[in-house]
Amino acid sequence: MQTTGLHKLINITNLTESTYILSIEKNNLVFEAGQHILLGKENDTDQREYSIYSGVNDEYLEVLIKEVTDGSVSKHLKSLVPGEMLNVEGPLGFFGLSKDKIDSGNFLFIASGTGIAPFHSMVKTHPKLNYKILHGIRTCDEAYGKESYQPDRYVRCASRDTECDYNGRVTDYIKENKFDKDTNCYFCGNFKMIKEAMDLLEKKGIPAGQLHAEVYF
Ligand SMILES: Cc1cc2nc3c(=O)[nH]c(=O)nc-3n(C[C@H](O)[C@H](O)[C@H](O)COP(=O)(O)OP(=O)(O)OC[C@H]3O[C@@H](n4cnc5c(N)ncnc54)[C@H](O)[C@@H]3O)c2cc1C
Repeated sequence: MQTTGLHKLINITNLTESTYILSIEKNNLVFEAGQHILLGKENDTDQREYSIYSGVNDEYLEVLIKEVTDGSVSKHLKSLVPGEMLNVEGPLGFFGLSKDKIDSGNFLFIASGTGIAPFHSMVKTHPKLNYKILHGIRTCDEAYGKESYQPDRYVRCASRDTECDYNGRVTDYIKENKFDKDTNCYFCGNFKMIKEAMDLLEKKGIPAGQLHAEVYF
């Protein structure tokens, strides 16, 4: 059920200079992995959508946010201190795993930057999931939460770093690799990456009905 209310900020964890995790009191918010919330400071009408990063059974509600240069809400949220209150509305959206495929399906998750957030929630929520993640990042330090994934299921595709798993964009990785036709593909992050990756996978024979996207910007 969708709710609107004030939730207390428990903690801020800075992962890099610009990217951080907010841990927020859950109150009675019940969600499905892949959904997002609308988040803003108390007494501020400015809110933005953020995918839920935590698993459905975790103690706190978590979001992974990148402070956008010249952005408004992503900057304001970074300046909060634990104990302050946040406006939370949600859960929202339908970017979730097909229930009938969770136990037996084969999933490919393709993310750019903080677009990894809904997949982190899905993997935490469903520990037996048969998945592979392609994470598009610039440098290895942007592999947010990599310890949450089995190393053989998580590929860091870094465009400006040769020290990660794959040197290049997720789209280059897709071009060079084979994917089973029954793969269920989920894309999250910036529109350009999603469009290119979707087109490539469709050309490789994955039916359009198995392609699901959440566009951030
Ligand atoms: C369904 C959904 C879920 C989202 N989940 C997340 C999430 O989990 N984590 C997260 O960090 N963001 C997420 N976003 C993006 C988020 O809602 C905001 O757009 C972002 O935080 C910028 O808000 P702002 O007020 O700081 O900047 P604004 O003042 O609103 O925008 C400034 C500019 O930055 C662009 N922009 C937005 N996001 C980015 C980005 N990541 N990198 C570069 N430019 C960007 C916008 O298009 C705009 O042109 C999500 C968006 C949607 C629609």
